[in-house]
Amino acid sequence: MSKKVAVTGTPGVGKTKIARLLAEELDAEYFDVTEEVREGSSAGYDYDRGVPVADIKALRDTVSDGDEDGGEDGDENGDGNVVLDGHISHHLRPDAVVVLRCRPDVLRERLVERDWDDEKVRENVESEALDILLAEALGATRGRDVPVIEFDTTDSTPEEAAERIVRALEESEGEDSIGVVDWSDHIDIEIEGEREGKEREVPD
Ligand code: ADP
Ligand code: MG
Repeated sequence: MSKKVAVTGTPGVGKTKIARLLAEELDAEYFDVTEEVREGSSAGYDYDRGVPVADIKALRDTVSDGDEDGGEDGDENGDGNVVLDGHISHHLRPDAVVVLRCRPDVLRERLVERDWDDEKVRENVESEALDILLAEALGATRGRDVPVIEFDTTDSTPEEAAERIVRALEESEGEDSIGVVDWSDHIDIEIEGEREGKEREVPD
């Protein structure tokens, strides 16, 4: 039976690098979800953020093609296995989800290297510190027998990470493996009023 493994996480955690290696190790097809959205599986454009809005239904249909018979998309590899790379991949009805994590200060450095503006860097570092993608992945798979495996990439090479993830997937037996990191010391949320120089209202 073909299996879909979603590799998700905040931008910069190492999804693309590790998903490609994982696909090789699992003898699976690599599928770039973000690229697919750019190419057309979009349901409009978010002008505030300057990004296309993903059409989840169209994406689900695309990645399900060939599920039944290992069809055309499965030709390149025997079982039609696929590794889905992208921060929305957990929404595409995967059979397993790998949530990659990266310590917020290290992630900040990786994102700054991308020449992103301060606001976009801050937003994503904050999202990582608050476990947002992990929460989303757990929500998207709730009630279904889909293991969610969290993995901290901060101190391992992408190669080490991919190897250990393959083992974790084999050993998961349908169970989640989460709670491997705690970034609460890195939470540094600016409060709206303070940013605007107003006094903070303290409730009675
Ligand atoms: P994503 O796809 O999640 O946005 P990338 O795979 O593009 O992340 O990786 C972001 C950056 O971090 C790249 O410059 C990559 O070389 C680097 N990187 C990825 N994984 C690791 C890792 N495990 N250790 C160190 N650097 C990494
Ligand atoms: Mg990527």
